[in-house]
Amino acid sequence: MAEVIDGKKVAGDVLGKVKALTADLGAKGITPGLAVVIVGEDPASQVYVASKSRTAKECGFHSVQHTLPAETGQDELLKLIAELNADPAIHGILVQLPLPPQIDAGTVIQAIAPEKDVDGFHFINVGKLGTGELATAFVPCTPAGSMLLIERVRGKDLSGLNAVVIGRSNIVGKPMANLLLAANCTVTVAHSRTRDLPALARTADILVAAVGRPEMVRGDWVKPGATVIDVGINRIPAPEKGEGKTRLVGDVAYAEAERAAGAITPVPGGVGPMTIAMLMANTVTSAFLATGLERPSF
Ligand code: NAD
Repeated sequence: MAEVIDGKKVAGDVLGKVKALTADLGAKGITPGLAVVIVGEDPASQVYVASKSRTAKECGFHSVQHTLPAETGQDELLKLIAELNADPAIHGILVQLPLPPQIDAGTVIQAIAPEKDVDGFHFINVGKLGTGELATAFVPCTPAGSMLLIERVRGKDLSGLNAVVIGRSNIVGKPMANLLLAANCTVTVAHSRTRDLPALARTADILVAAVGRPEMVRGDWVKPGATVIDVGINRIPAPEKGEGKTRLVGDVAYAEAERAAGAITPVPGGVGPMTIAMLMANTVTSAFLATGLERPSF
């Protein structure tokens, strides 16, 4: 039976550290500030944004939420970003995606000051991660959180280990691959055009699934003893719970995979809680850097 990697516990540890660091800053008269911007009324986005704003408050941050109507124009949003870039009380700016069709998400993300880009999506931060400048980069929250979970099991130096990342998105797959490379793994990125994925997955000491296909990774894809990180969050019908009910599953067939794996993240309760915790970690880090203090480590 695999060790179950408790993302809620690790996320709680990260948030505990964020609160302590926020108290240290408070003693210097500084409060980390996070601005979350949402355009439109997508129900899932509203839930995410509310939970980010709430956690920011719990951490002791100055938490600001800007809710703009769905018909907001791009120029209006860019004007708000420019104001937030110039506001010394704000250390982190997050624009919730997706944005409505009249707004180009790429243009908006590149308008965020790189030193306030706590999502890590600005080209400057993407480039720093790609070139191994981790000491000054903001790394996207989900892969950064996944990496902390891997470190809990395998330590910080992953020399000699093979990692396979399934998924090549800019938000998860690619930054995850870069983080594993920076930790000295031998990394392969698999995607929808990869041939014989099960055989490739079986070479992985560290297997990360970020696809968005319920339970795609089967038990016999997992090398015995491997560390399995399941990033996927998929809602599927659960008639056993009653008519119309649903449940969340990952991209990994958990019951099968945990028999082979050395350690595995559950869904829910694995990578999910890490994402928001790392957003808070990035924001307090930004406040430290803006104050000329040494970057804290997580
Ligand atoms: P995406 O749709 O942008 O990317 C999916 C990737 O999977 C693509 O690169 C694609 O090539 C690859 N893929 C698709 N079908 C495949 C197949 N049959 N075989 C191999 N590869 C295949 O998705 P994303 O934003 O990277 O998210 C991936 C999953 O992670 C989703 O379930 C999403 O909900 C979840 N997610 C979770 C968190 C979290 O906080 N835990 C955060 C972000 C995303």
